[in-house]
Amino acid sequence: MSFANRTAKLKPEGAYQVLARAQELEAEGREIIHLEIGQPDFDTPDNISLSGIRAIAEGRTRYNATAGLAELRTVIAADAGWRRGMRIRPEQVLVSPGAKPNLFFPTLALVEPGNEVIYPNPGFPTYEAMIDVAGGTPVPVPLLEDNDFSFDLDAFDGLVNARTKLIILNSPSNPTGGIMPRADLAHIAAAAHDHDCWVLSDEIYTRLVYDEREAPSIATLPGMAGRTIIMDGFSKTYAMTGWRLGYGIMPESLASRVQLLFTHALGSTAHFTQIAGIEALTGTQDHVAAMNAEYQRRRDIIVTGLNDLPGVQCRRPQGAFYAFPNIKSIGKSSFQLANLLLEEAGVALLPGTAFGNYGEGYLRLSYANSIANINEALGRMENVLRQF
Ligand code: PMP
Repeated sequence: MSFANRTAKLKPEGAYQVLARAQELEAEGREIIHLEIGQPDFDTPDNISLSGIRAIAEGRTRYNATAGLAELRTVIAADAGWRRGMRIRPEQVLVSPGAKPNLFFPTLALVEPGNEVIYPNPGFPTYEAMIDVAGGTPVPVPLLEDNDFSFDLDAFDGLVNARTKLIILNSPSNPTGGIMPRADLAHIAAAAHDHDCWVLSDEIYTRLVYDEREAPSIATLPGMAGRTIIMDGFSKTYAMTGWRLGYGIMPESLASRVQLLFTHALGSTAHFTQIAGIEALTGTQDHVAAMNAEYQRRRDIIVTGLNDLPGVQCRRPQGAFYAFPNIKSIGKSSFQLANLLLEEAGVALLPGTAFGNYGEGYLRLSYANSIANINEALGRMENVLRQF
């Protein structure tokens, strides 16, 4: 029995592999601190949960429109539009179960064999997976630590060409927490015009920004709305990872194509989840502010603590909830060091290489965890790192 080649290169997400090993150790009685998983440790705010519960009690448990509830699409268009300072029509919005389908299906609608796709490395592993499944050629662009982990624009200029069909951006970034400066986005936008490329902008962390920073969207640059897909969602901002609710915003012509893929692959997003999504966007935003303030406190503690560890240097990320320390001077590979820290210190974190080869020399720690756990993890790491 054989399989189609289409899935031959797919790999599991590194975070789940580390989680599995951490759980084995826990089954043996070890106490593990989990800094590997990228999800909020907060519960979904009550007003949102209760609106979902009410919706289930009211029987909103049936199929609904493939592109999403008209009311939610209208609310998303208004909210996403005013936050970015652009006009978005509800017809451009496709609601999906989690944000991931709005990465995968637009890519399937755009990319075919012979097309090259530029994407960040280190970067979210789904990008390479979806390019492979679409039959495109993945073209990783390295990130520059000195420029807040934005694209290495010299490398980018050498990689973009007439075969480039799609450029994937992720700002603020998983795994680095970096925000791409507007000037870099303008440079990439100019290349997208010159080579007539689409841009897929993963903006799932756009509201998780610190120090009064904003993460600009490439879609707001002149002429870019017509060639950009914005992917965003509820998972991170509203601590709703398990609800599965996200969206894409794209030109209507592409939305009609992607909607057909949704029809046949997904049917529709759960009705009650979408009701909760309307409450998330139209209800109080105080919970978001409170969660962000807490993430910022944790960021300051983890970054200061990491920089105090022997051989570790960590930039202060201004978005998302990940620290991405440089461990090059320790003389071990990211993989070796991540394993050692798990096995010897009971701290589960990810090697930078879980996000691609250019992640070598880095670790990723999620600080979506309590300050007590973060401090305990730092202490344990110090005990191991002092040995080198
Ligand atoms: N993009 C990035 C960069 C992410 O980190 C994640 C979640 N880990 C997603 C997309 C997917 O979000 P969702 O869970 O809503 O599908």
